[in-house]
Amino acid sequence: MIKVLKFGGTSVGSAENMKKVASIIKYEGSHITVLSAMSGTTDSLVKIGNLAKEKNTAKINEVIGQLREKYSTCINSLLASPANAIAKMENTFGLINDFVNNYKEGKSERGILAQGELLTSFIFTEYLKESGEEAVLLNAPDFMITDNDSKIKKEVLNNRLTALTKQDGIYYITQGFICTNNDGEIDNLGRGGSDYSAALMGEALCADEVQIWTDIDGMHNNDPRYVEKTVPIRHMSFDEAAELAYFGAKILHPATIQPCKDHGIPVRLKNTMDPDAEGTLIANGEASSDFCAVAAKDNITVIRIYSARMLMAYGFLRKVFEIFENHRTSIDMITTSEVAVSLTIDDDSNLDKIIKELESLGTIEIERNNTIICVVGRVDHQQAGMTARVFNSLYTIPVKMISYGASHRSIVVLIDTDHKIQALKNLNVGLFNL
Ligand code: ASP
Ligand code: MG
Repeated sequence: MIKVLKFGGTSVGSAENMKKVASIIKYEGSHITVLSAMSGTTDSLVKIGNLAKEKNTAKINEVIGQLREKYSTCINSLLASPANAIAKMENTFGLINDFVNNYKEGKSERGILAQGELLTSFIFTEYLKESGEEAVLLNAPDFMITDNDSKIKKEVLNNRLTALTKQDGIYYITQGFICTNNDGEIDNLGRGGSDYSAALMGEALCADEVQIWTDIDGMHNNDPRYVEKTVPIRHMSFDEAAELAYFGAKILHPATIQPCKDHGIPVRLKNTMDPDAEGTLIANGEASSDFCAVAAKDNITVIRIYSARMLMAYGFLRKVFEIFENHRTSIDMITTSEVAVSLTIDDDSNLDKIIKELESLGTIEIERNNTIICVVGRVDHQQAGMTARVFNSLYTIPVKMISYGASHRSIVVLIDTDHKIQALKNLNVGLFNL
């Protein structure tokens, strides 16, 4: 049985937690263990990258000082012989300083960002070895390689990772998040990307299970940051999980599900702080019988296109979509009427260019600061009252857009972000009686 276990930042966030991780991977018989950086590290490294651009060495030294404090505390309480790890840590800070001193926009930031996972995985491997285990640290950028479309080259990954992890009885440890890009430089899969790394490695090794270990007991029915009473969902389908992750459930990076779904590899979400808790199993054929969860995604921009030319015309939508495609911007929601189209995007980095081109099609209106609320579960289009339950719960909240009927697994609404918390709370009561 091949298991790929991934541990997030809090799971490796202290010496004490790293010890928990070690006992979990032994208990589970992890074949390959994918680690994030200790919690808070990547944020600090982002800061250093920004300060590098401004050449603010005083502030950079301050942030490195905080990291030194955090990491040396962890190393000294974790390891009986800390010298190697301390040396690795100082070496890491040296590398960061090199990236700062020879600053090259983009390349330096990416190089700096990779150091958290590299250092954390080194320390953890030292600990495993010290506790008498056979552990091998693998350098993820040697096998996680992206093409010029920033997609992982799967064949390279399959061949290299299989060759590197041949032996049984060894704990293979590696970094999530980081990779080598098409120019041969160190890069990453985007914030929170360690989950995706683990899924890709699971796919490459035809794993029997991918486990994502965090600090909460599985995927909850609602966002515990805003809603008091939430409950874990024990089973869900790949599609439900993908939808929730895409629409804001922070527990899972949205790209994680696809590789596992393609190969039917179950994904288990577990809690490092409470390993006996059941967690959530995401697998084929586990779809819910009713609504199972809600999630929210912020920073949504609405674009409305008014055009009399749409009336009785064909090909209008193609022209609209083409503009978004040319600017590599994906659309989340869309509604149409005879004379207008409204759609939403979350990445507005090319918005100015998009608007300029859309203006040739009609009058454009932009609204920012919106939130998508996604209700996920079994949405039976033959059953009366499903939409009523959602909208009765939301009856005090102005709804700007609705998407219903596209799939049998969600109802999606757009609201002003100011109403988000109230909407999540109302749905918790209205749909889940919590
Ligand atoms: N350390 C990275 C981040 O904070 C990747 C991850 O944890 O998944 O975004
Ligand atoms: Mg994460």
